[in-house]
Amino acid sequence: MPIHDVVMIGGGPGGYVAAIRAAQLGMNAAVVEKEPALGGTCLRVGCIPSKALLESSHKYELAQHEFAAHGITVEGVGLDLATMLRRKDEVVATLTKGIQALLAKNKVTRYSGTGRLAGPGRVEIVPQEGTSGGGVTVLESPRIVLAVGSRSVVLPGIEYDGDRIGTSTEALTYDRVPGHLVVIGGGYIGLELGSVWRRLGSQVTVLEYADRILTGIDADIAAEALALFRRQGLDIQLGVQVTSARREAVGCVVECRDREPIHCDRVLAATGRRPATDRIGLETVGIVPDARGFITVDDHFRTGVEGIWAIGDCIPGPMLAHKAEEDGVACMEGIAGHWSHVDYDLVPAVVFTHPEIAAVGKTEEQLTAAGTAYVKGVFPFRANGRARTINDTTGKVKILADAATDRVLGVHIIGPAAGDLIGEAAAAMAFGATAEDIARVCHAHPTLPEALKEAALAVAGRAIHA
Ligand code: FAD
Repeated sequence: MPIHDVVMIGGGPGGYVAAIRAAQLGMNAAVVEKEPALGGTCLRVGCIPSKALLESSHKYELAQHEFAAHGITVEGVGLDLATMLRRKDEVVATLTKGIQALLAKNKVTRYSGTGRLAGPGRVEIVPQEGTSGGGVTVLESPRIVLAVGSRSVVLPGIEYDGDRIGTSTEALTYDRVPGHLVVIGGGYIGLELGSVWRRLGSQVTVLEYADRILTGIDADIAAEALALFRRQGLDIQLGVQVTSARREAVGCVVECRDREPIHCDRVLAATGRRPATDRIGLETVGIVPDARGFITVDDHFRTGVEGIWAIGDCIPGPMLAHKAEEDGVACMEGIAGHWSHVDYDLVPAVVFTHPEIAAVGKTEEQLTAAGTAYVKGVFPFRANGRARTINDTTGKVKILADAATDRVLGVHIIGPAAGDLIGEAAAAMAFGATAEDIARVCHAHPTLPEALKEAALAVAGRAIHA
């Protein structure tokens, strides 16, 4: 029976990063992954393929509508969807192979097959059907990390068929542009993939149950995003309760409470994700997940059962790849006896639409609810030189600072490269920066980060360029 110092069940950003860190710390680590490719949801069917398609579809839109403003004339702009999808697949393949190479370099053993706990200290691996993996393998380890991630939630009444009615996974592979795509859910996944297909020519209707999009994002930024997306052509309908979606002889029909049914070509159910913690043998060790399937852990990712930890999407917290990676590193460092900590208040969130939306720290609603007095500094991209030169002036940077101490409590950006700009904000906040600290840092000109500096100056009412 193979014995390892630590075994991860799941080879996504949580599991594979944890395994590499474990190896760096001198442990003999193993990863059990049921899919042929490593990298998890993020690499195979999440972050990476969606961003590849967002980039390609954005370029298509630029070629059609933006190049002329730069004095570039292009004629006969056409869409070769097969090439676009192939490029996305190649990006995914390159990155997943890279992870395989990283595991090999760090001498992490990879086991292919579905892993489940088989009592304390044991993981049983069943090879995927149709593979030549042989019989069941049992591993022994004093440390087992559950990194099994999550899967899409499909609400009752939505007759998922993995084709015309599908989830984000199917929406990454449509082999032709749907005439009319209905997206159920106005969260970041629905809006990103809705944007992709709108740019490529679909009529896209987004149905959202709440009275706003992007729950969790600062309300003022989400309202600005809603207006922009509608102007771009996304038909976003709020306060809509979808009751069913099913195939018809041709296309599909989506039924909603108190509304006319919508006939469309495809349905994308983007109504959230839930932990993939069923069928992993939790009962064999006495772990009871919560009602939604999350495994409860303490600050050191311990499940309460000796020798078993859990990280990433299968524990409570933001369901994001970089958070899963942080969990994995901190979990291993804790196991190795080092100081370890993840500051969940400083996990940035990014929506890769155009403009991008990015946030770190508290929203205005959260500060108001907590009774925290704050000062707001806002700077619009239209007053930023770099934004002008790249012809991308929509949006703003908003900094929320403590009224008494000036310490930065939240940064919210909608605008060009917001996802890149938020890194500086997160770093500053991790060091406990005040708005004045950011304002006094010399930022290169002309760059987009100058908008962050100006927003920091605006906290003290002294922005230079607005
Ligand atoms: P996962 O990535 O889900 O990995 C878990 C792995 O465990 C999987 O490979 C699975 O096959 C394997 N597994 C499960 N059960 C078993 C078992 N019993 N035996 C063996 N293997 C098993 N996050 C971002 O930060 N940025 C983004 O831009 C972003 N975009 C996204 C877009 C989409 C369309 C989707 C769906 C998600 C996106 N996410 C994004 C979320 C991100 O993908 C997840 O938060 C992240 O992958 C979680 O990492 P994880 O390691 O916890 O789980």
